[in-house]
Amino acid sequence: MARISDLLAAGRTVSFEFFPPKTDSAQMSLGRTIAELAPLDPSFVSVTYGAGGSTRERTHQVVTWVRQETSIAPMAHLTCQGHTRSEVDEILENYRAAGVQNILALGGDPPKDPADARPSDYQYASELVDHVREAGDFSVGVAAHPELHPRSPDRATDRRTLAAKMAVADFAITQFFFELEPYVRLVNELADLGVTKPVVPGIMPITNVAQVSRMAEMSGAAVPASVLDRLASAGDDPEHTRLIGVEIATELSAALLDAGAPGLHFYTLNRSTATREVYANLDLANSGAEPGRGANLGTGTT
Ligand code: FAD
Repeated sequence: MARISDLLAAGRTVSFEFFPPKTDSAQMSLGRTIAELAPLDPSFVSVTYGAGGSTRERTHQVVTWVRQETSIAPMAHLTCQGHTRSEVDEILENYRAAGVQNILALGGDPPKDPADARPSDYQYASELVDHVREAGDFSVGVAAHPELHPRSPDRATDRRTLAAKMAVADFAITQFFFELEPYVRLVNELADLGVTKPVVPGIMPITNVAQVSRMAEMSGAAVPASVLDRLASAGDDPEHTRLIGVEIATELSAALLDAGAPGLHFYTLNRSTATREVYANLDLANSGAEPGRGANLGTGTT
């Protein structure tokens, strides 16, 4: 099994993100999606975690299933707000015992109702990064927010706190965004702070405008007017919307690779079609990818 830091050092990666299904039928549907995406030979796949531990068992089940039943390297997301250190120790020990080597260490979001808050030994993701490092030989990733985290008071604070956690972590994966500029600016601002570790851009092919606009608003990402205008030409036709969403994601992915991005991380929403289409449009399969190592498309660096 592979450590993501090693995969990134070896060449460009292509990865897919899933969320743990809630029902038996959603679980079967995720199984089909993974089977459809596996032939693309992803470098790794990642599985999200419900803040406060709401998907603790389900995330563990999907991550260990990928580890045991496929040849793809899995990465477990883990959020720290609402967890004690001993809970995190237990979660990490279970992953280590299952042979899982990659953790995305996240802050998570506090519950909307403070009455739902659980006891927490952590405030920020950086504290979890330190803990995962101490706990064993995991490859550790963190979240980056090209258009700033919504709780950051200003750009300088956002970049300073990100640089501090990246000094300890191995790599970052970004929140989704729709134009090249916020990514390039983020990488340059990190470089100014002395951070040159890989920052993998997160790609969300738009298949449903209302859904993505809602998610973007929550995460502090903007859906630019130019993107919304292009999508508006599809009217209420979901198939036409998906085609335009794939076109936009393809253009952004190509621009990111040209700009030297170290990989592409696709937010699949547990569906395969749009991701497969972007992958095919970019001709990633014929771009020098090594099996299990993701696409190695060129010599660009960040
Ligand atoms: P942090 O790094 O803790 O940052 C949060 C805020 O605190 C920022 O404004 C930061 O500037 C500030 N901050 C950090 N450290 C300090 C400090 N020392 N002093 C002052 N301010 C500080 N959420 C989930 O619930 N489950 C998931 O599986 C999940 N997966 C994600 C995957 C990716 C790739 C990304 C980009 C996000 C994901 N999220 C997930 C969302 C994430 O948990 C939220 O955005 C959360 O609000 C912040 O997480 P963080 O890791 O960036 O937190």
